[in-house]
Amino acid sequence: MRRLAAAALACGAVVVACFARGQAQAQTQTPEQAWSNFLGNNRPDLQPNRIRIEYLEPSNKELLPVYWVMLRRRPLQRIREIFSPLRLPVELTVRTKECGMSNAWYQRPTITICYEYLREMQSSAPKETSPDGITPLDAIVGQFLYTASHEMGHAVFDLLNVPVFGPPEADADEFAVHVLMSIGKQDARRLIMGAAYMYKDYFKNPTITVPVTAFADIHGAPMQRMYNLMCLAYGADPDLFSDVVEKGYLPRSRIPACKREWGEVNYAFEQLIYPYVDKKMLNDVLAKSWVPYRAPPPPRSSDLSSPAQ
Ligand SMILES: [Zn+2]
Repeated sequence: MRRLAAAALACGAVVVACFARGQAQAQTQTPEQAWSNFLGNNRPDLQPNRIRIEYLEPSNKELLPVYWVMLRRRPLQRIREIFSPLRLPVELTVRTKECGMSNAWYQRPTITICYEYLREMQSSAPKETSPDGITPLDAIVGQFLYTASHEMGHAVFDLLNVPVFGPPEADADEFAVHVLMSIGKQDARRLIMGAAYMYKDYFKNPTITVPVTAFADIHGAPMQRMYNLMCLAYGADPDLFSDVVEKGYLPRSRIPACKREWGEVNYAFEQLIYPYVDKKMLNDVLAKSWVPYRAPPPPRSSDLSSPAQ
């Protein structure tokens, strides 16, 4: 944010310089021409295909299996493909790396997803299809895409200077739900339910005790985020998510607000994000399926960057 402020100040200086020059050129340019030239000279060079990806090899040997799975399944290639229609002013790198902690974040111009976080995600996935019908693959792909889309939300708000009214973390969550709901109806159900699986432990303890300062976190409380996720999905497509109340993913009392909540997010997306999306490329993305329908075959020695053990 500080950098944006600095950029705005720099622009202010340019405006002053421009106006000074404009007075000198008043006899040769109409105000419209001068304004058009001014905008033309300062308009950011927005281009699609500006997502770069990298899998950094961890030095901690315990993280190597996660790294190898990433190389094998190539999830960052999917992220690049899904978000390449975005016309961005600069290149945005999405990388996986060893961080020394379990987390994911955006810091201009890079999104980082830690191997520690991915390992945790992998080990908490169900070993077989859960009673609610969530497959191990749905849980991993849904959580990964939700997390990556959340960070992409932060990146898009920053790089495209999108104004946000709410807490940025809540806005990034809403951005992520919109992405998951948009990339194919059949996929949407699997992706949303897969993402919701990350909150499974909270369902086991319906009553919790926390210090009040827990509510000062920049993120909403975990179950608040889960209910928001489910409410938006339900609001977007009540038929596709008609069973979420019965299955305990959303209290019935929240249902009446969901359609309107989705409407607000959808309107914000249409007004603030879609103008920066290459429509033809987006159609290609929407025509694809983004959840594999079977687990990939086990790795072969030629897939691994170190000798088989
Ligand atoms: Zn965030």
